Amino acid sequence: MKPICVDHIGIAVKSIDETLKLWEGVLGIKCTGREEVPDQKVVTAFLPLGDTEIELLEGTSSDSPVTQFLERRGEGLHHIAIRVESIEEAIRELKANGIRLTDEKPRYGAGGARIAFVHPKAANGVLLELSERKR
Ligand code: ZN
Repeated sequence: MKPICVDHIGIAVKSIDETLKLWEGVLGIKCTGREEVPDQKVVTAFLPLGDTEIELLEGTSSDSPVTQFLERRGEGLHHIAIRVESIEEAIRELKANGIRLTDEKPRYGAGGARIAFVHPKAANGVLLELSERKR
């Protein structure tokens, strides 16, 4: 597997609008766009900072994984995404090492990235996203 950088850090929030008061208004990290990802029942907002970005996640329905996360744990750090050169290669190598994945095949995330999640139980309690995207 060829990891490139921290692609983004996902933060689960109740309201993107409310959250931007801090991140944009006070911290001065501009939001460059929002996107609904129907597959994951979330709206994401992107706040690029250097080579990485902050990704704010707001659930769009009560059965959204993000809404369920908020009910269980409240707002907070949701996942860390590592950019990889090839998502297929990353999945293959993780499987070969017996690492439990939530996704056995790549799926599409925000920004047209191809992504797969590693199960938190296999990564020290951290939901780890692998992301392949062309920038
Ligand atoms: Zn993500």
